Amino acid sequence: MGLMMIFVPYLFQYCLVKRSTIQNDYKRECLSRKIKEWVQVIRKQGFVDGAQVFKIVLDCLDVAIKRDTAIGTLCGNVQNITEKKETKMEKVNEKKKQEMCPTISPLLKGPISILINPELDYNAKETNTSKPPLQNWPPTLEEVAVHYKDLELGGSYAGPRDCVCRSSVAVIVPFRDREMHLRFFLYYIHQLLQRQQLCYVIIVAEQVDSKSFNKGQLMNSAFVYANRSTNFDCFIFHGVDVVAQDDRIPYACSSDHVYHIAPYIDKYNYKWDGNLTVGGAVAFTKEQFTVVNGFSNEYVGWGGEDDDMKVRINSTKNAISRLKENYIRFKMFKHNSDKGNPKNPHRKDRLRVAHDRMKEDGLNSLNTSSVDVIKYMTHTRLKLKTFMPKYVLEVLNRP
Ligand code: UDP
Ligand code: MN
Repeated sequence: MGLMMIFVPYLFQYCLVKRSTIQNDYKRECLSRKIKEWVQVIRKQGFVDGAQVFKIVLDCLDVAIKRDTAIGTLCGNVQNITEKKETKMEKVNEKKKQEMCPTISPLLKGPISILINPELDYNAKETNTSKPPLQNWPPTLEEVAVHYKDLELGGSYAGPRDCVCRSSVAVIVPFRDREMHLRFFLYYIHQLLQRQQLCYVIIVAEQVDSKSFNKGQLMNSAFVYANRSTNFDCFIFHGVDVVAQDDRIPYACSSDHVYHIAPYIDKYNYKWDGNLTVGGAVAFTKEQFTVVNGFSNEYVGWGGEDDDMKVRINSTKNAISRLKENYIRFKMFKHNSDKGNPKNPHRKDRLRVAHDRMKEDGLNSLNTSSVDVIKYMTHTRLKLKTFMPKYVLEVLNRP
């Protein structure tokens, strides 16, 4: 024990020096927090356990210098160890935590005003050009992390300190090349989910290849990933460009219905036009998503996959539900059509046979490869390479 105590300040110094050579802001932030945690663990545990942590710290830092994307994974390993050691401490606090959180969270405040740069805002007044542009907005991912102190690495939240959360939610965001939207999205979503007293993780499923965007494959892959480690009871598939304008909008699942969370969007004057089937944000229980075999993998480019999902849902005993309260309001960020996401000319053909295909096209035919998993403080980033389904290859090869 005594020996370890002498080591601690040196270890700390060593870590800080190594830390400064890491270029990426989020990784530096992640490492800073981890270093503090490790030192605390070493202090608490004494020499024997401390030695194990010490070795991992050094490995982590060495690998981090060589290949800094590995840092998320390694920090994750350390987190497992620290979590195990801390369970004794948690037992002491268990009594306090045993009570379930109330059905309506006392932390809710109602409307959320979304601060948004005019060039991204469908509601901005064209005439008002006199306003100076917003400075330092939206916050960077590092700034978002600093704002939410209770997050764990990977953008997960273990619920409030004083009660047990009623639901464990995986929020899945398909993503490519929308950094600006992601910064807004993360800044607002953590606030909403924490006010609702949920346990949750944010998983950003990023397509890293340059093929046409394949939202279905990304969402399916994130669903599979989420189920590997944690028992989530609710999966919310969420566009990166929509943000809730009221914290009373339930981010929850119902075993009776697939729940379309975001039917009313400012871009469409908050009127649901029936074309928006499950887009924006939609919540499935694990069972509901499994029964429909997930999304189709076969829609490449813009359009079709959401309508296809509607066909899938309608062919099961579940229906889609929407709330009608007038506080169900979402803001959508202005965007042009994305370079890598041209309108899919085959979407209508595919949709005609959606029902026949659902049994063999979806979760059970998923062949996407995961290139990397990076755990930022604000979210878990899955880096994915999509695959070309047989049907798509056939269409491409047609004379
Ligand atoms: N998306 C993305 N990059 C792209 C295309 C789509 O990140 O190049 C994601 C993003 O989360 C977006 C969602 O897919 O919210 C739906 O795509 P898009 O916004 O083009 O569809 P819309 O619903 O606006 O027609
Ligand atoms: Mn959009």
